[in-house]
Amino acid sequence: MDKYEKVFELAKRRGFLWNSFELYGGSRGFYDYGPLGSTLKRRIEQTWREFYVIQEGFMEIECPTIGIEDVFIASGHVGGFSDPLCECMNCKEAFRADHLVENVMEAAGTLSAEDLTKVIKENDIRCPECGGEFGDAYEFNLMFKTTIGPGTGRQGYLRPETAQGMFVDFQRLSRFYRDKLPFGAVQIGKSYRNEIAPRQGVIRLREFTQAECEIFVDPRNKKHPNFERFADKELVLYSQKGQEKGESFRMTVREAVKAGVIAHEVLGYNIALTNEFLTKVGIDPAKLRFRQHLKDEMAHYAIDCWDAEIETDRFGWVEIVGIADRTDYDLKAHARVSKTELYVYVEYDEPKMVTRFVVKPNMGKLGPVFKGKAKAVADALKHLSEEELSKDEIKVTVDGEELTVSSDAVGFAEETVKVSGENVIPHVIEPSYGIDRIFYGIMEHAYDEENVAQKVAESGLKGSEEAEKEAEAGKNEGETEGEEEARLVMHFASAVAPVQVAVLPLLTRKELSDPAKNIIVKLREKTLLVNYDDSGTIGRRYRRNDEIGTPYCVTVDYDTLEDGTVTIRDRDSMRQIRAPVKGIENVLYELIYRGRAFEFAGKPFNF
Ligand code: AMP
Repeated sequence: MDKYEKVFELAKRRGFLWNSFELYGGSRGFYDYGPLGSTLKRRIEQTWREFYVIQEGFMEIECPTIGIEDVFIASGHVGGFSDPLCECMNCKEAFRADHLVENVMEAAGTLSAEDLTKVIKENDIRCPECGGEFGDAYEFNLMFKTTIGPGTGRQGYLRPETAQGMFVDFQRLSRFYRDKLPFGAVQIGKSYRNEIAPRQGVIRLREFTQAECEIFVDPRNKKHPNFERFADKELVLYSQKGQEKGESFRMTVREAVKAGVIAHEVLGYNIALTNEFLTKVGIDPAKLRFRQHLKDEMAHYAIDCWDAEIETDRFGWVEIVGIADRTDYDLKAHARVSKTELYVYVEYDEPKMVTRFVVKPNMGKLGPVFKGKAKAVADALKHLSEEELSKDEIKVTVDGEELTVSSDAVGFAEETVKVSGENVIPHVIEPSYGIDRIFYGIMEHAYDEENVAQKVAESGLKGSEEAEKEAEAGKNEGETEGEEEARLVMHFASAVAPVQVAVLPLLTRKELSDPAKNIIVKLREKTLLVNYDDSGTIGRRYRRNDEIGTPYCVTVDYDTLEDGTVTIRDRDSMRQIRAPVKGIENVLYELIYRGRAFEFAGKPFNF
């Protein structure tokens, strides 16, 4: 079993992830999040909100998951959101054509369907399932189509990303933020892509959750007001140049921006923020890097683009977040299709005196030709561009009628005016997170099989009562006894653990279960996520909680009744401390949310 299989075995058994529609045989590309999985996922999303909504101040919006066609014509998804598909002529199984040729050539992702067909034929690449021959590759649009309204209705699509909602609402958002750049908005929600061959668990889904942030910035100023916050933070970068040599390197954000490795401060800040978020929710920093898109992989309109990638056991490096400077591409595209200008009026610090050419229609010439319409023609001329005015025959539209004006009826003059600002089409910096991939990354990086004997020795527990309880757990599981026992543990960060505290009465007797339940009430009042477990031996209960990553267990025993103390057991070190029941909720809150060291739990503390 590789780690992927082990993680999935645990995920299914303990209620993190289940195959959707299992009762009916399942369907590829869909997963249900079970009780613990849903909680873990919500906590990742909640932490994301703390970062982007609360700290960065980018407000959350919620748009429909079904979009009308115009939106996706403008965004380019109708025309070009496709992957090359290849079908086996024998068993009819579908494959990504670029994935099929990955072993025989590099940069397969940049080839056209025609070229992929050629490579497949030339190399006699056969169906991995049945050895059959492949038909020609063709581009397959990944959007799910639907019909809006009854009958033939109106063409709609399930959104393939949440981002378009923020672009379509741009004018409203701009007004909400009183037209002050920079501003941003976020959306967390479902996106849909009809992936050709999803065979990678929650890494490639047909329905998945994105958390996307669109930051609208002034294109003339890509300095970040809070740059110093992360300027000296070292990141692992795998730049375009680094990829030529096959080497990633460590560099501070300040150095990277200064050396032009990262295009500008706003992008640098956002890459560092992503790094901070991912490590906070439990991605292993040693298995995290930022890879810059290569020139031929970057969208033509993007200035710079970096993917946060995590190392996984089975799939190697996997993209989990994309952070891009998308320039003004999206706003211009929506302006063109919706025929609405999308810009922000930016006031200068000081008004400027600007000399410019202005149109001076010659009324003496326009009057006799256009009579009653002469004034309207003159006004229309003032709105034409320089290019339109430079023609010999100038076209204007008055009351829906196109009129031709001779160039000698239009004069120009120079005038100096006071200008207090200008219209600016903002550039968009977009961090785009895939929550399901982050979820999987957290599960895999948290997963560990530990040798209990070694752990006991490391923690200085050997020979102690705790060590006996831990060893006893193994016996009860029917695993290898004593010293050789392995424990399966999920080292979830307390910020996302689906259960934060387990409360365990030593026995199911009322005299112990009552105080245990009282403790639960106090912990829940502090909004801690608590689990009550009274079945099996204490050691066995510890193991069950290790498996689901519960950071702390609280055991109520007969000493509790005597001296008002309980045992708090730390998941990672397996160490135990006696602490008073009074104030236990504050102690656990400090351990979980304030990152206090475990030793703190046993010391007297005044809250
Ligand atoms: P993209 O718009 O393709 O850059 O996707 C943004 C993020 O969404 C990626 O970094 C992934 O984490 C996530 N993502 C994209 N496609 C899928 C998928 N089919 N299943 C799960 N997550 C996905």
